[in-house]
This record gives sequence, structure tokens and C-alpha cells, in this order.
Amino acid sequence: MIPKPHVMFSEAQLAERVRELGAKITEDYRGRHLVLVAILKGSFLFAADLARAIDLEDVRIDFLGLRSYGSGTESSGIVQITHDLTFPVENQDVMIVEDIVDTGLSMQYLLDNLATRRPRSVKICALLQKPARSRVKIDIDYLGFTIEDKFVVGYGLDYAEKFRNLPYIGVIE
Ligand code: 5GP
Repeated sequence: MIPKPHVMFSEAQLAERVRELGAKITEDYRGRHLVLVAILKGSFLFAADLARAIDLEDVRIDFLGLRSYGSGTESSGIVQITHDLTFPVENQDVMIVEDIVDTGLSMQYLLDNLATRRPRSVKICALLQKPARSRVKIDIDYLGFTIEDKFVVGYGLDYAEKFRNLPYIGVIE
């Protein structure tokens, strides 16, 4: 039995930060169309809350499923698309909504892949970043929290598919 993860960011802390990110995005994209691209599975709760914190008239939401291969909790940068976008993003302002940028290899793959679809702009909104493990430089436009090198679960993030339903971000000891 894995012990219950202890709280790193509470439900209230997450709600507050997501509200702030949503308000900033609303301000920055006023009068524009925005396509939120939520990366599955990890960002499903973050994206659901963020979408509701963005107060713009024209927001579209699509999902892109990624599987990152690696040994255990280590990313390899070899990424497979398990579910593709359902509409073209050519000439659109795209916001990637990601749970966590760790080594950055998955995000780099994603940026390269999206670039081939000729969007007008691509920005990144990530809930968490672990700078200690960065292998490629990724500029995150809207970042929730910077964390130290700990494996976190909850609020969409899993350990062997468990814990995605926790309402908080926690650490397994
Ligand atoms: P990267 O390619 O940046 O190393 O890793 C990206 C993906 O690895 C994330 O989208 C996430 O799915 C997974 N990942 C990285 N760090 C963590 C972590 O601390 N906890 C969990 N549950 N997944 C992580």
C-alpha cells in the first residue's frame, strides 16, 4: 500500500493560483480568439479549472494525448501522440495547457509538432515546473508554481495511474 501523499499545494492554494493565471490570460488575450490545447491525461483537472477562470468570449478547447516513454519516473523525450487534436490550429492563437514541465523534452517535442501546423502563436501555461531537472530551455509564459525535484501526484498527476483524483498536489514519501 502506498501511503497517502502529503500536501504540497492545497486545494485552496491551487484554486487561488488558477484564478490568477486565468485573470492574466483574460487580460492578455482580450478581443482575441484563443485555443486551449490541454495535454492529456495529466492536465485534465487543471485545464478544466483554468478554462473556467478565463473570461473571454471566444475560447475553444481541444485535447492532445501524449505518452512519454522512459524508465520509471524518468522521461526519455520519446513521445507518442495517443490522441490528436480534433480541428486544425492554422492561424490560431494556441495556449498549451500542461501539468508539469520536468526535463522539458515532452514540451520541446510538442512545440516542434505544433509548429508544423502553422498556428499564429503558441504560448505555454503550465501548472508546475521543476527547474532542477531541465534538459532543454522552455519559456513558460504562464506558470503556476516552481517546485523542487520531488515526484508529485494529484490534481490530474498520477503515479502508475493512481492519485489523479486527489484535489491537491501531493508528494509520496
Ligand atoms: P518531461 O518531458 O518535461 O521530463 O516530462 C513531462 C511529463 O512527465 C509530464 O507531463 C508528466 O506527465 C510527467 N512528469 C514529470 N514530472 C512528474 C512528477 O513529478 N509527477 C508526475 N506524476 N508526473 C511527472
